[in-house]
Amino acid sequence: MAMGKTLSCKDVGVDCDFVIHGQDEADVLRQAAEHATGCHHDVQMTPAVQAKIRSAIKDEGGSCCGGSCR
Ligand SMILES: [Zn+2]
Repeated sequence: MAMGKTLSCKDVGVDCDFVIHGQDEADVLRQAAEHATGCHHDVQMTPAVQAKIRSAIKDEGGSCCGGSCR
């Protein structure tokens, strides 16, 4: 079973409740770029920002509770 990836804007240090769900890291990055273009005009998709996003991407949890059950 393929596990998706998820990213919260908050985890990148942006005060925003937007959460991205993607099929894989590339999908999440693409959606993050789109979201930033539409919502965070002050955020530039620099290599540093992309690295920060990559490190903030998490595996989507299993079916039980989205990974918050630890
Ligand atoms: Zn956002």
